[in-house]
Amino acid sequence: MPKGLYFKYIDHSSNNIIKVDAFSFADECWSKANENDAGEGRRYVLECKCGANDWTDNGRSINEYECNCCGQFITVSQAKELEESN
Ligand SMILES: [Zn+2]
Repeated sequence: MPKGLYFKYIDHSSNNIIKVDAFSFADECWSKANENDAGEGRRYVLECKCGANDWTDNGRSINEYECNCCGQFITVSQAKELEESN
């Protein structure tokens, strides 16, 4: 898998992982994914502020997910390139 920021979530009963280029917690400003945060040739996974990595697509709106641990909402922008889900 290429380096960069990835986002893991559960949609109904299936696990998904997508590459993202930006994310926004609740009503906060958007943050750009910084590939350098992952280190050379590595990827990292976006975690909640509470430290959990337990996101679910709650179906409320597109690209919005909810933390199963603390209820935090997050919106992610899926990277256009390097999609590997298909
Ligand atoms: Zn959380």
